[in-house]
Amino acid sequence: MPHCDQVTNASTPGNAGTVVVLTIALDGETPVLAAGRRYAEHAMVMSHQAFEPHVAVPRLLDLLAAYSVPATFFIPGFAAERSPAMVEAVLAAGHEVAHHSYSHRPPTSLSEADDRREFERGLEALDRFGITPAGYRAPMWSASWRTPELVREYGMIYDSSLMDDDKAYVLQTSHGDLAEIPPHWSLDDWEQYAYLPAPHLGYHINNPLAVSAMWTSELAATRRYGGTFVLTGHGFLSGRAGRIEGLRQFIESALEFGDVKFRNAYDVACAALSDVATERKKHERVDVDSAIYPDW
Ligand SMILES: [Zn+2]
Repeated sequence: MPHCDQVTNASTPGNAGTVVVLTIALDGETPVLAAGRRYAEHAMVMSHQAFEPHVAVPRLLDLLAAYSVPATFFIPGFAAERSPAMVEAVLAAGHEVAHHSYSHRPPTSLSEADDRREFERGLEALDRFGITPAGYRAPMWSASWRTPELVREYGMIYDSSLMDDDKAYVLQTSHGDLAEIPPHWSLDDWEQYAYLPAPHLGYHINNPLAVSAMWTSELAATRRYGGTFVLTGHGFLSGRAGRIEGLRQFIESALEFGDVKFRNAYDVACAALSDVATERKKHERVDVDSAIYPDW
């Protein structure tokens, strides 16, 4: 089970300004196969996703190394098995690898038994690389109410799927405390760059310099309040040449602020869990009267 005692220099949002957490999902073929197994027969779609291990990841690792900034890579078990050299390259570069399901099917669409099997198969796949992940992110952020419980039950110390804050906080589960490191759609490259007609991943091809400017202005605003700025990229999207330059510009702008720290999700989780000043929350399900909100 992951533990935190080797962390000495992590900063918590509560006492140390703004922390940027670069999170990069290496989903490979999983999002398109989760939309339909038939896409395995579609050469263009498969090759669109294969750009990630072959071209995108080396570029992204070079970019991170150039600025000595850490990142957390969320890798589904299926993608890890398909591209073991990609996983080894991420590990060799010293970055964190975290749990991102096995097949990228959303927990909200799974039975509890299938959800558990996803957790276990994802863990088994990472274990073959010697990885004991400290945290989890739900595919498409489609966490169910049982997701934080399962994350903690399976020995992880953080989740990064929920959106009710812009600072890392402690979520109390029946299995113990968990750090929640909240992402948001506005800080995700999917909403900027995802274009694939079938399966329909999105119709977005935006200007990377405009995207970088938007993220930088959001970071500037976050500094007024202090917080955990969780940027989300995907290898197959952000590994394109112009988009790498957009990300480069964002990193340079963030460093120029002078008071922004880059940390991986693990360090942020440990800092949040160990700081008594971190907000503690307990989620409660929303009880809904079926007479008022009938099923559609
Ligand atoms: Zn994903």
